[in-house]
Formats: sequence, structure tokens, C-alpha cells
Amino acid sequence: MKKTYDLAVIGLGLAGLSLLDAVSQRQPDWTLLGLDQGQIAGGASSAPGALLNPLPGRSLLPRPPYQQAHAFAGPWLQKWQSETQGTWLHTDTMIRPLWQDDPVSHRLLRSWKQRTEDYGPHLSINHLSSQEVQEKYPGFVETDGAMELSPVYAVAMHEMLKEITAHLSERSIEFHPEEPTQTLQWDGHCWHIQSANGTYQARHIGLCVGAHLGDWFPELPLQWMGGELVTWKAPDDVEWPCAFRQKGHLVPMPRGFWVGGSTYNDITPEQTTALAQQRSYLDEWVLSLDTSTSEVVAQEMADGISRLFPAVQQAEVDHVWRGVRGIYKHDRQPLVGPVPEQPQLFVCSALASKGLLLGPYLAHHLADEITTGDEAVPSWARSTRSSDWSSKRIHEHASGE
Ligand SMILES: Cc1cc2nc3c(=O)[nH]c(=O)nc-3n(C[C@H](O)[C@H](O)[C@H](O)COP(=O)(O)OP(=O)(O)OC[C@H]3O[C@@H](n4cnc5c(N)ncnc54)[C@H](O)[C@@H]3O)c2cc1C
Repeated sequence: MKKTYDLAVIGLGLAGLSLLDAVSQRQPDWTLLGLDQGQIAGGASSAPGALLNPLPGRSLLPRPPYQQAHAFAGPWLQKWQSETQGTWLHTDTMIRPLWQDDPVSHRLLRSWKQRTEDYGPHLSINHLSSQEVQEKYPGFVETDGAMELSPVYAVAMHEMLKEITAHLSERSIEFHPEEPTQTLQWDGHCWHIQSANGTYQARHIGLCVGAHLGDWFPELPLQWMGGELVTWKAPDDVEWPCAFRQKGHLVPMPRGFWVGGSTYNDITPEQTTALAQQRSYLDEWVLSLDTSTSEVVAQEMADGISRLFPAVQQAEVDHVWRGVRGIYKHDRQPLVGPVPEQPQLFVCSALASKGLLLGPYLAHHLADEITTGDEAVPSWARSTRSSDWSSKRIHEHASGE
């Protein structure tokens, strides 16, 4: 008889691997399967340098869900760094420069002054004068001061997820890369997963397909936002100690690299190819990054960053990376939780630019929901706030094999 897994996770990026981790901790006896159409952590989660930024917007007043998510995500990263090989986590300070004639600077400063209580044990924010910035961060252009946030975590995501996968394999989770899932059929007892190379059965499904969520649910109001990150080899004679952000960001990474980013390239739904194709337009766009495009992207990014930090022009480009963010248009928050009217089928996607902040945190809540049957995913991220979940790739009450 064919094996029936307790849970199959489709899509092995940050969301899928976080979900497998969280479920295996709650139910060590469950049989778990992970499938990906390409390499593990080969999608948006292969980003060479991502920031866990507690306050990604134009205000320094944390929104309550983000504060809780940040309090979860920082220790989650530290725990994994202490349990795995390699150095993929860099704990940083981040400065946000202030300019007298810049409205965003005024908003940052005003919101910081408005805070009614401390940021809590996981975050501190200081105001630096112009002179303090010069003394502490020589090499940065002259500013009218800066906000200094710490800790901010910089993560080599691909390396982190490679290490986490190795760890999860030791917990007897089965991984099948290069296994594109095409359809799902529910037979009244379990799901039948039809992939390019065979079929699998599972009681629960976690669909963690990142920007590919629209391949499954074409009516969901999703937006695709492509983007690039540039990695430089830092010059030997330049010590640069912190991340900074203004429009884009530059982040020092382990082993003497800097990562700068990111660009925003809107990919319209019209540009996506026929649904259910294995290699959709999203993949084509990523693959279309050739040497000449990379050179242009790297130069434009260096030109932008050098307005704040001129030394970037001396650094040697290591590589240019490209990925696609999936965004739920209505409120730009993730879609996590049950797929309405489909038994034991769950999603964890549309993490947009906040994968590190929200991915592991929401996967942890989703694991509670899958393993206990109780509603656990917070309402602001819950999948059921959308009603557009029809899918031609998911069939109910088929007769089974
Ligand atoms: C330029 C750029 C910069 C970014 N910077 C940051 C940052 O600084 N900080 C931050 O927190 N986040 C950042 N992000 C966002 C972050 O990368 C994403 O939020 C996160 O990686 C999404 O993880 P995921 O698991 O949902 O998706 P992915 O990592 O894309 O994983 C989805 C997986 O599903 C697989 N899949 C899809 N369809 C199928 C199928 N039919 N069958 C099997 N497998 C399938 C794919 O192959 C893929 O591996 C950035 C993103 C971009 C593009």
C-alpha cells in the first residue's frame, strides 16, 4: 500500500522549511514530506543578504504584529545559527540617515519622539547628532544626524536554509527537490499529490509556493514584484561596521561581503504565462538576468549607494541576484491558514519583502493550527480574509487511486 504522509509541504523556501521545522517539533512522530519544483531554497529565499528589519516603514512606531513577530524572529535566527554550521547570520546595527529638508526624516524623528514606552528587550533606537555619525561611522557622507537601530539581523538566506534542511533531514523529514507538483486531489481521506515524477499521498498539505501562489489560485489579487540584490567583495582597507537604509540598503555580511539592494520591478499579471506551466514567466524573468543586465544593475546600485557611502565604488562586484516577491494586493500582508472549503489544505505565502520578519513567526502559528485543529494564525495574516480561492488544480472528492 502506498505510504500516506501526515503532512506534505509543497515549496521549500523559508515558509515551507519553517513550517516543516515547526510541525516536526510539535509532532515528532508525524511522517513529513517536502517537495520543490526546483532546488531547495532556490526561489526568493536564495537571497544572498536579507535584512530582518524590525521597522521596515517610514515610522519608528512599531505596529503591534510586527513587534511580536520581531521578538520571535530574532531568537529563531540565533537559535538556528547556534545549532548549524557556517556563519550565515550577521548581527548588525542599522542607521537611517536624517536630513533637515527631507519629510521622511521628520516623520522618523517625530514617530521616535512619540513612542510612549521603550521598544522592549529586542530593540533599541538612538538618535545620533551629525557629529556623532561622523565619529562613529567615518566613511559615511555628512548628514544632519541619524537614527540608530539595533539589533538588525543580516542573513545569507540560501546558506541558512541549506543548513536548516540538513538538520531537518536528521529528523527524518523526506525531501524531494526537482519535483514540481501539478495537481491535488482529495479522496475523502487524504490528498493525492500529482507531481511530474510520481504521486504521493498526505493527510495534510502545506502549500508554500511563494510568488507561485497565483499559479494555483488565479483569482487571488496578487502582485509580483521582481528585484535584484548586488553582492560586493569589500575592499581590504575599508572597514564598514553597520547596515544603513535610505530608499535602498547596504548590509555588511560575514566573510567580508557587502550586499546592496534592492530594486523593484513590477511584473504584471498579463506577463505571466499560462497557469499550471512548470516554468512560468516568473522563472523566465529570473533566468533572463544575463551578464550585461547584471553590469547595468550593479553600476546603478553602486551609483545610488555611493551618494551615502562613496567607498562602494571601490568594491568589486561579486554577483547580482534576482528574485520575485509575491504580494497580496489588498493589504500587503501574508496569506496564511486554511484554504476555504478544502479539507486539511493550508497555505503560507505572500510574504512580500518581510520573509524573515513574518515567515518563521507565521509558520509557527500555522503549525499550531495544523497539529491541533484550533484556529491559531492571527487575523491580520489569515488566508480566510480573502474569498478568491478557486483553483483548477485542486479537485475535491475524487474517487482516489
Ligand atoms: C530583491 C528581493 C529582496 C528581498 N529582501 C528581503 C529582505 O531584506 N528581508 C526579508 O525578510 N525578505 C526579503 N525578501 C523577501 C523574501 O525573499 C521572501 O519573503 C521569502 O524568501 C519568501 O519565501 P517563500 O518560502 O514564501 O518563497 P520562496 O522562497 O520563493 O519559495 C517558494 C518555493 O516554492 C517552490 N514551488 C513553486 N511552485 C511549486 C510547485 N508547483 N511544486 C513544487 N514547488 C513549487 C519554488 O520552487 C520555491 O522554492 C526579498 C525578496 C526579493 C525578491
